[in-house]
Amino acid sequence: MPEVPGARLLGNEWLFITGAADPGGLPAPGVPEIAFAGRSNVGKSSLINAVAGRRALARVSNTPGRTQQINFFAIDDKMMVVDLPGYGYAEAPKDTVAGWTDLIRMYLKGRVTLRHVLLLIDGRHGVKANDHEIMTMLDRAAVPYQVILTKADKVSVAQAERIRVETEAALVKHPAARPQALVTSAEKGYGIEELRELIVTLVQR
Ligand code: GDP
Repeated sequence: MPEVPGARLLGNEWLFITGAADPGGLPAPGVPEIAFAGRSNVGKSSLINAVAGRRALARVSNTPGRTQQINFFAIDDKMMVVDLPGYGYAEAPKDTVAGWTDLIRMYLKGRVTLRHVLLLIDGRHGVKANDHEIMTMLDRAAVPYQVILTKADKVSVAQAERIRVETEAALVKHPAARPQALVTSAEKGYGIEELRELIVTLVQR
């Protein structure tokens, strides 16, 4: 499998453990978990692949809303990266959306091994209404989270910076959020090394 330099910082071996479509499918809590969350199509699969240094660990799909289960990846048996279903896909059937939302909420509120959430926000658009919803839910559940801005290569440097400043201004109102937003591009590799370092730091808390 192709690897990029620095991927080893997190661990050598990434192993897909299971995909849970309902609460009964969740693996028993064990090692610390870091969960990736975000709107459908935000670039979550691409970012997980970039962080892992693998091309196709989390599937990159052009069909928004296709990832409907919580996927668990173990890294060297030391920690788990958790890929949550993308939210906010307008064309998905209502009861399907309600099902994922319940599953995500249940996981985020009740998972004893969850150390931190990485909340992905599209770096072209900034915080949207359903991002605010999940942020408020995380605040209420006192689950700490870090905002990651994605797809920075799609906008100018000035625009990326403007969105970062706006996003950080919004974060001030969210008590469980870390104050800074990390700007990334899975495509160009911006911010990926910082994100790996951050994950290592967060998992040790
Ligand atoms: P997910 O639904 O959140 O898992 O999003 P994907 O990773 O499947 O990405 C959605 C779309 O955005 C795909 O067409 C990706 O190729 C594209 N994409 C993801 N990350 C980036 C990025 O950093 N830069 C650019 N230009 N496109 C990206």
